[in-house]
Amino acid sequence: MAENEKVAIVTGAARGIGREIARELLSMGMTVVAVDLKDDLLAELPAALDAPGEKLDCRTMDVTDSEGFTGLIDAVAEQYGRLDVLVNNAGITRDGLLMRMEDADWEAVVKVNLTSAFIGTRAVARHMLRGRSGSIINMTSYSGLEGNRGQANYSASKAGMVGLTKTTAKELASKNVRCNAVAPGFIKTEMTDALPQQAKDVALSLIPLKRMGAPEDVARAVAFLASDASAYITAQVLSVDGGMHT
Ligand code: NAD
Repeated sequence: MAENEKVAIVTGAARGIGREIARELLSMGMTVVAVDLKDDLLAELPAALDAPGEKLDCRTMDVTDSEGFTGLIDAVAEQYGRLDVLVNNAGITRDGLLMRMEDADWEAVVKVNLTSAFIGTRAVARHMLRGRSGSIINMTSYSGLEGNRGQANYSASKAGMVGLTKTTAKELASKNVRCNAVAPGFIKTEMTDALPQQAKDVALSLIPLKRMGAPEDVARAVAFLASDASAYITAQVLSVDGGMHT
């Protein structure tokens, strides 16, 4: 399949890592459906990405809305007649130590980070199985692989992404639909800008390559897994973390 005929859905695409993923997939010629909660940021996306209107399709959606997100995916498949890539990238943090964590903070993070990926995966699977090809990429995290103080909710949701990835890969492999995860380490975005300086210093000291990652570092790994260059790779977790997780 020529990469420039592919249609990709990227969630949480309005800023940060998701925006760079959209940029990278557009540069490969893919049609990108950019999904995000924040319509003001989505409105700025075509100019920010300098993308031709027919290649970038921005849609406002809360990906925890099961009916809405499923309907969006069905509508995209119907409109373009194909669906090749889903990147489950939307994510939030509500950090706090375990003993003080409120139920609401647990539930919100699991719902956005993990449940939405299940909803999206279930919905695209039908279309990808019919087309006998597809690539699903789930955004997990170093915290999901190693755990992280103050992130019981976030690490649990991201560890859940690994289980979802491996099970999806096993269930869909016979029809040539692949599913992999990308595990970023400490990447410079608004999510990490919000951390206190002390937490940033600790994180930096743990990175063998001695720098924070850029959103583009993650986007290039996602683009590889979205492309046919990774046709024989499924059920894997690719760390993009400057060497932290081994
Ligand atoms: P970000 O906060 O900059 O961007 C996240 C985007 O997701 C935002 O545009 C936001 O509006 C959108 N979003 C949030 N909830 C949504 C919902 N319910 N429906 C639709 N869109 C929603 O974050 P980022 O740093 O770019 O992170 C992107 C992904 O990478 C997340 O899954 C995050 O957990 C993961 N990650 C980030 C880092 C890092 O260091 N930045 C490290 C590991 C993993």
